Amino acid sequence: MPLPRTRVVTLNAALGPLDYRIPDGMAVEPGSVVVAPLGPRQLIGVAWEAGRVPTEEVGDNRLRPLAGLIDVPAIAAPLRRLAEWTANYYLSPLASVLRMVLPSSAALASPRHLIEYRPTNLVPPRSTPQRAQALERLAGRQGTIRELAEVAEVSDAVLRGLVNAGALEAVSVEADRPLPVPDPDFAPPILSPEQHAAAGLLSEARGFDPIMLDGVTGSGKTEVYFEAIAACLRRGEQTLVLLPEIALTEPFLKRFEARFGCAPVTWHSDLRSSQRRRAWRGIANGEAAVTVGARSALFLPYAKLGLIVVDEAHEPSFKQEEGVQYHARDVAVMRGKFEDIPVILSSATPAIETRHMVEIGRYREVALPSRFAGAQLPEIRAINLTQDPPPRGRWLAPSLVAEMEANLAAGEQSLLFLNRRGFAPLTLCRHCGHRFQCPNCTAWMVEHRLMHRLACHHCGHVMPPPRACPECGEEDSLVACGPGVERIADEVAALFPDARTAIVTSDTIWSPARAAEFVRSMEAGEIDIVIGTQLVTKGYHFPDLTLVGVVDADLGLQGGDLRAAERSFQQISQVAGRAGRGDKPGRVLVQTHDPDAPVIAALVAGDTPGFIAAETDARRAAVMPPFGRLAAIVVSAEDAAEAEGVARRIGRAAPSVERMAVFGPAPAPLAMLRGRHRQRLLVHAARSLDVQNVIRDWLASLEWSTKVRVAVDVDPYSFL
Ligand code: ADP
Ligand code: ZN
Repeated sequence: MPLPRTRVVTLNAALGPLDYRIPDGMAVEPGSVVVAPLGPRQLIGVAWEAGRVPTEEVGDNRLRPLAGLIDVPAIAAPLRRLAEWTANYYLSPLASVLRMVLPSSAALASPRHLIEYRPTNLVPPRSTPQRAQALERLAGRQGTIRELAEVAEVSDAVLRGLVNAGALEAVSVEADRPLPVPDPDFAPPILSPEQHAAAGLLSEARGFDPIMLDGVTGSGKTEVYFEAIAACLRRGEQTLVLLPEIALTEPFLKRFEARFGCAPVTWHSDLRSSQRRRAWRGIANGEAAVTVGARSALFLPYAKLGLIVVDEAHEPSFKQEEGVQYHARDVAVMRGKFEDIPVILSSATPAIETRHMVEIGRYREVALPSRFAGAQLPEIRAINLTQDPPPRGRWLAPSLVAEMEANLAAGEQSLLFLNRRGFAPLTLCRHCGHRFQCPNCTAWMVEHRLMHRLACHHCGHVMPPPRACPECGEEDSLVACGPGVERIADEVAALFPDARTAIVTSDTIWSPARAAEFVRSMEAGEIDIVIGTQLVTKGYHFPDLTLVGVVDADLGLQGGDLRAAERSFQQISQVAGRAGRGDKPGRVLVQTHDPDAPVIAALVAGDTPGFIAAETDARRAAVMPPFGRLAAIVVSAEDAAEAEGVARRIGRAAPSVERMAVFGPAPAPLAMLRGRHRQRLLVHAARSLDVQNVIRDWLASLEWSTKVRVAVDVDPYSFL
């Protein structure tokens, strides 16, 4: 009699699948989450169908028994198939995908009661700078010592000291207390006939059914897909809503609560481990009726998923650029396929890839062509900077300033959009021309005047701005070149000293709580002028915001990115869509040096179909996505020659395959990143070619030192 055995995929990407004996009385089936011994270690893994993860067979005599079965529901077959598909499509280890299914050790560990700490009102008798810093950062926070130490950026010992001094108190948290249940009938809106029709289509969808919900900004897409969520709730099934940005979570929660009477479960990087455990367990046992989260929520083991909504589905941030380089929008559709459920891709500016799927009949379209309650789409006008230039050293054209002045006088809110954090993108020495570059990256150090620092936006390296030039020693010779949002804020302050302004970037809105505070002060009319990056382009609804100024519409068109024009179009349409959402009409002024550029001309003419058609034709002619496939191979190493050597060998070994071409290697535009030199190859292939298979065999035939990293980016969105 053969011993009862199972194959196990562990969470360790360096290991292949392993075989184990199932001890007597342990009920292990495919999907069971198990503890597998390996040498002296205990690894978490998932039991898997042996036929799907081939490996060398091990004789019965060498089989070790599993060390345990973890008391959580087994990972269901549709999710196992999705994990396999993702690993295969994005050329990643299955283990790395499974880490996204089981991302929380707290969820698997048994204690239901966790001890967390929170600040008391007691000021410790003996204060040190570290204690002061800890107490300042921990205001309103709660978590384990480890979590709080990370937030406060102090050692565990400092926090233990604060506990002993009575400035932090212990709280026992019941991690598995029940989750609130959203009520589909709590406060349904009265839909317009157009919305009603769309909501009906979405609510009736059953089985695998990808739907592009294409509605202009302010048409009520959220209200409409809420009805599909209500229908899903009534069926007793779970919904997953993916948001592109954690800053959008808070406004979403408020709207959800107003509609359904309680908040949904949230999943993002800012959760404490007790919250993570509670959410994961609720998701896995079916109790979490609606989960809203960042892209990482996509791989969680929902017990009875009935609907996926991808909000702002065109957003590039759905593409993960590290580890498993997946696109959450595309994987969401695949999950819908394996789970046999509808997937709603909601956007006012759907991606060309998504529109193409509608065109060829793979996705359905549900449209909301007009704004809710008769609000009009804003009028967009170009300001030609060559004819109407700002004064020297300024960035806002006189005609834009005049509109801002009128808006202030009318007591209405304005928004200036510039997709550049900090004060200035480049700092140089007036005397010798020295430019401040990051020591680890091919990038300029960006001045952040508010924090009194120069920072690299790629690796996070920071330094205080030096008084003297490090090259020539000249003092006070540094000049800022070009504008960032902080510099625009200075200009606004000089023009309108009494106006109340806010800067909105990832530097100022770094947590859901900060986003909530921003929304509150906008709604309370405490802000006159917002200056923001792409963070303000999406989602927000401020009825008194009537003027939008795009500071530099040409910025996004620089660089040879395949999607640069499309992205600029989407971004400006989205930021324009923030204007005039209430009863007051909105207007949008776009500053450009090239008003005849197709993107600008289409925006001014309101000709979305024309722009999309021209872009689509250009992609078709060049056999670019969605008509062809791309994959990037990025080779990096600390040693430049080593990276170049391996990249060359990969290039030379490129198979000659029909309908496929390989470009490069060449130094990446971001030739150095975090101290590693980078070389890129770009694979261009016909849609019909299984390019992953080709690349897998090609790279498998080569070897390189462990100091060299080779990453394959399938369907790349970044060309840096
Ligand atoms: P979109 O996501 O399409 O930009 P929203 O869903 O944010 O649009 O809707 C815009 C605004 O109009 C929101 O404040 C929303 O609450 C409101 N709204 C839309 N439809 C309705 C409705 N049927 N009843 C009440 N308010 C609505
Ligand atoms: Zn850097």
